Amino acid sequence: MVVIGSGLSGVMAALRASSQGKKVAVVRKGWGASALTGGVFEISETSLSKTKEDNPTHPYHLLDLEVLPTAFELFKKYFPLKVQGSYTENHLFLSDMGMVRRAAFAMESQFLDFRTVGRKKVLALGVHPLHSSFGNFSGDFLGGEQVTFASLPWFQETPLLPSMVAKKLDHPDEVRKLAQQIKSKFQLHPYAILLLPPVLGFDFFSDMKRELEHHLGLPVYETVATYHSVPGLRFQKALDASLHKASIPIIQGKVKNFEHQKKKITLLRVCDESSPQLNETTLEADTFVLATGKFFSGGIQKQKEFLETVFGLPLFFENEPIHNWESQKLLKKKFFKSQPLFQCGLKTDKNLIPLNEFGEMCFENVRACGTILQGFDPTHDGTRFGVQLLSGYKAGDMAV
Ligand SMILES: Cc1cc2nc3c(=O)[nH]c(=O)nc-3n(C[C@H](O)[C@H](O)[C@H](O)COP(=O)(O)OP(=O)(O)OC[C@H]3O[C@@H](n4cnc5c(N)ncnc54)[C@H](O)[C@@H]3O)c2cc1C
Repeated sequence: MVVIGSGLSGVMAALRASSQGKKVAVVRKGWGASALTGGVFEISETSLSKTKEDNPTHPYHLLDLEVLPTAFELFKKYFPLKVQGSYTENHLFLSDMGMVRRAAFAMESQFLDFRTVGRKKVLALGVHPLHSSFGNFSGDFLGGEQVTFASLPWFQETPLLPSMVAKKLDHPDEVRKLAQQIKSKFQLHPYAILLLPPVLGFDFFSDMKRELEHHLGLPVYETVATYHSVPGLRFQKALDASLHKASIPIIQGKVKNFEHQKKKITLLRVCDESSPQLNETTLEADTFVLATGKFFSGGIQKQKEFLETVFGLPLFFENEPIHNWESQKLLKKKFFKSQPLFQCGLKTDKNLIPLNEFGEMCFENVRACGTILQGFDPTHDGTRFGVQLLSGYKAGDMAV
């Protein structure tokens, strides 16, 4: 089986098929939207049944929701980082933009559930220039003045990309200097918890969090990232490590074209555009999983028409084919609202085989999973982790 795409859904498909004894390879042109996650993972804003009821084209209608714990156990078996939370309730986290985020799970270093903070006082520090974004946080939400927001002019002299700050903080000496500056600027004794933007180390962030806690003598957590996401980069790196642990090879390259016999794909031609020789590889398989994401990762595009980019499959919005629609038709004026544009994607049957506008299978040995499916908006929807996990698991299962 060849999986195209190494985001969460592609990795889940590969792990599931491989755990069933299938020989699997993953091909990818780079990192996609999984490397943008803020560090929290959503399954449903309300309940799984309400999500289905509210949205007739949501991918949950195609998936066996009972499998969620089994799929998550498989994920955790290979995923090297600790993810905390539960399926049954949403926890409340604070983002680096000062917004409240509801999610079922979070990375361990970010798992400060504000429902459990009680009367404890929290000091939330921004590393320049992120401090300005704390302004929006609703104190009312916490029922008082429990969170004190302040900036820390600690990194003004260095490049300010959060990933660079995080890499610098992979060293205990830098963490010690950070602790010294925090202690010199703030009286910490009124506070029970310290909250920092998610930059506390890159490869060794769990160790560096403990190091800082040791120097300061209080628990330290990271906020949820909004953009320039260090947690997203950590997450994608850990996904790569999961494939490595399962001995699943990653082939670097973009799928350029393919061959098929009647309704069966027979081979892919893959070109590594990052290598100076522009090496071309041919990949043959009996099954192909399309886990290429939406616009962010290039899985779908709008040029003259809306089109899926690898196999040229038709795209849909609420089951209507959209190939010749104007983009305007799929955009709402309110920028911060969920956009229909992000909900368009592939329509599939119950086995995740993409369908054309007449309801016929496009290729019988292709399965689709993850963000590329129609019916949910991966930038807004409170179900994105559940969709990636379950659809990837099912696509891997169906291939065996
Ligand atoms: C800004 C932003 C913030 C987000 N924050 C969160 C969050 O906090 N929590 C959360 O759960 N979700 C979040 N999401 C959503 C989440 O990132 C995605 O829903 C999910 O991780 C995408 O997984 P995927 O497997 O569908 O695709 P992706 O991770 O996008 O992977 C697609 C893969 O396909 C590859 N690919 C595409 N075309 C080709 C080709 N022709 N040849 C070879 N390879 C190809 C790409 O290189 C990539 O490897 C966020 C999304 C965005 C955009």
